[in-house]
Amino acid sequence: MGHDHRLRVEVDEGRCIGVANCEVCAPQLFRLNHFRIAEVLDPASTSRKEILEAAMDCPVDAIIVETEDGKLLWPK
Ligand code: SF4
Repeated sequence: MGHDHRLRVEVDEGRCIGVANCEVCAPQLFRLNHFRIAEVLDPASTSRKEILEAAMDCPVDAIIVETEDGKLLWPK
């Protein structure tokens, strides 16, 4: 199912400490790799609200969310 937004989602690998809050919040968007670093799957599979909630749930602000024209939404 697609969602009507084009948010860009990235994980700062140097910050991620692998606690997996993001994967629990939005399992269709984040998956921990073999190094226990979160990888981003398909942002279009996830609602804007769920993306932002997952980003806010990261304890080290490693999830970066931008609009498609590059405006930073999170972290603030
Ligand atoms: S919540 Fe943050 S620190 Fe935890 S796995 Fe996700 S990106 Fe990494």
